[in-house]
Amino acid sequence: MDSNETLNGFTGFSGRSSGDFGYAREERDATAVVPFGEDELEEIGVLDRRWAWCEISSLAIRHNVLEARRFTKPGCQLMAVVKSDGYGHGAVQCAKAAINGGATWLGVATVDEGVALRKAGFEEPILILSEPPVATIPLLLTYRIVPAIFNVEFALAYGETADQHGMVGPYHLAVNTGMNRIGVRAEEVMEFLSRVNFHRGLDLTGTFTHFATADARDSIEFELQLRRFNEALQAIRTAGIDPGIVHAANSAAIFRYPEAHFDMVRLGIAMYGCHPCEQTNGVANLKPAMSVKARITDAKTVPMSEGVSYGLHYRSPGSVRICTIPIGYADGLRRNLSGKINVIAGGQYCRQVGNICMDQCMFEVDMRSSAARLRLDPQVGDVVTVIGEEGDAVCTLAEMAYLSGTIDYEIAVGFALRMPRVYVD
Ligand SMILES: *Cc1c(COP(=O)(O)O)cnc(C)c1O
Repeated sequence: MDSNETLNGFTGFSGRSSGDFGYAREERDATAVVPFGEDELEEIGVLDRRWAWCEISSLAIRHNVLEARRFTKPGCQLMAVVKSDGYGHGAVQCAKAAINGGATWLGVATVDEGVALRKAGFEEPILILSEPPVATIPLLLTYRIVPAIFNVEFALAYGETADQHGMVGPYHLAVNTGMNRIGVRAEEVMEFLSRVNFHRGLDLTGTFTHFATADARDSIEFELQLRRFNEALQAIRTAGIDPGIVHAANSAAIFRYPEAHFDMVRLGIAMYGCHPCEQTNGVANLKPAMSVKARITDAKTVPMSEGVSYGLHYRSPGSVRICTIPIGYADGLRRNLSGKINVIAGGQYCRQVGNICMDQCMFEVDMRSSAARLRLDPQVGDVVTVIGEEGDAVCTLAEMAYLSGTIDYEIAVGFALRMPRVYVD
């Protein structure tokens, strides 16, 4: 028999160069095969590709905007702050829902966020909440994105470019009343305006400030900032200059300080259903817009005293099933929450156990049945709630933020890192 022929197709190792272990029976060129067309592949839905996702309620966002407007006077406008992709909720969908609820302005942090909204078809005025680089001026003028301004150099470059194109560049003057992040110091506002306001390419269409402590228990610093802002406004008006749309209030100030509403309020975190501080609990009726869900990818009994996850710090007490879900700290489920949170499976709280990994984490289902607890039988494919409610059980973003030693804002934004988003209503 020839050494290259055997009954089962295996031709043996002899006479081959190393690394050439293919079967001689059929020559297949895998790179030449295209098993599925693009269309077919695109039909595989986002929730089938990945068993972890965020559910966003547009109705909750609309509700929260209406709730904020319940606290403002008729005629007071509302800016929906949709920076950082709508605090992780999706800027375009959130802007739509907010406008549905009566928002008339959109607030962003970067030029590209503004451009994306224009390209999505929004016609509402858009404000960048800080001063972008001079190089972006052509984008601002083309996409009608209003910059916040506090540097003379930027103001003059903006006015000059606008003028060269037969335009007038609208801007909002950022006033630093004490937060010391951005803005012209309140007492220097007139000096600033005297250096830029003559320019025929510039149009002061708004004046605003931002509070550092609107969410704090104590209101002393808030009142100081408000007083400085009012003084700056008065100086502007006394000089015969129209400050345009005056605005100052963030979420906390909307619900706590009506005297800071002026012509417009800027609604951020509360629009997404999170309370900016303890003090708004029970005052504002907010609905959380984001839920986080996952499906179980692995469910097994782990014998008593065996460890789970990196470091094996958690040890099975026996009589538990250890379930895995494909969500980890690269998805926003912060690692310092390891062992501190619950997930909800079958309507019951289950303890997350072991270290949260980059892409996965585990939770424990107690298999000892008791009268109070339904006996659970977790299966691969079952849906688990990481944030949200199932019956009486509820896991909140706020609780997660507290346990993680941060604020709701950071947790919400974190879930936008890699999770697919679906809009449920
Ligand atoms: C982010 C931001 C807001 C929104 O603040 P919330 O606390 O989320 O309501 C308002 N104004 C400015 C200038 C901001 O940067």
